[in-house]
Amino acid sequence: MRKHIKIGERSLDYTLNFNSRARNLKISIKRTGEVRLTMPKVFFAERTAEKFIIAQWDWIFDQLKNVQPKEVKLGEFEKYKEIARAKIEKKVEEFNKIYCHNYARISIKRTSSRWGSCSSKGNLNFHYKLIFMTEEMMNYVVVHELCHLKELNHSKNFWELVEVAIPDYKRIVKDFKKMRI
Ligand SMILES: [Zn+2]
Repeated sequence: MRKHIKIGERSLDYTLNFNSRARNLKISIKRTGEVRLTMPKVFFAERTAEKFIIAQWDWIFDQLKNVQPKEVKLGEFEKYKEIARAKIEKKVEEFNKIYCHNYARISIKRTSSRWGSCSSKGNLNFHYKLIFMTEEMMNYVVVHELCHLKELNHSKNFWELVEVAIPDYKRIVKDFKKMRI
């Protein structure tokens, strides 16, 4: 139950939860800045909840100073992960029409220092920052990993496979060498 309370200049939105197993009133402050008051079921009236909040008023605002609002907390990765996934999955599908290789899972990563990788189990991993690259660079990384499904090395056969979809891959490889993730 969403509640609102205002005292002087400061106002507070909080969530009131009734919990039959709770023994006492409890205030918790989430990392998102959400204030939650849990109350033992039925024993207490809503008025009690409000009194409890008022009693803890300064403490609550002290705690809130330490948490950042949700928008700020949301990192770049969280913001772009799904956009990257949608775009990359589409490209994998598209280019795999040429290769028809079997792959297991596509994952979007942020920790890797590589733009893409392919595991021996056939999982394809891509760095989310790929979406900040040019289309041809994205295409190249997708094709590179798709070709690793067949050739888990950088042999002559591997590069011949890459060349099928990206004839000028050498120029793009050079562009990548100038960049860091
Ligand atoms: Zn490779």
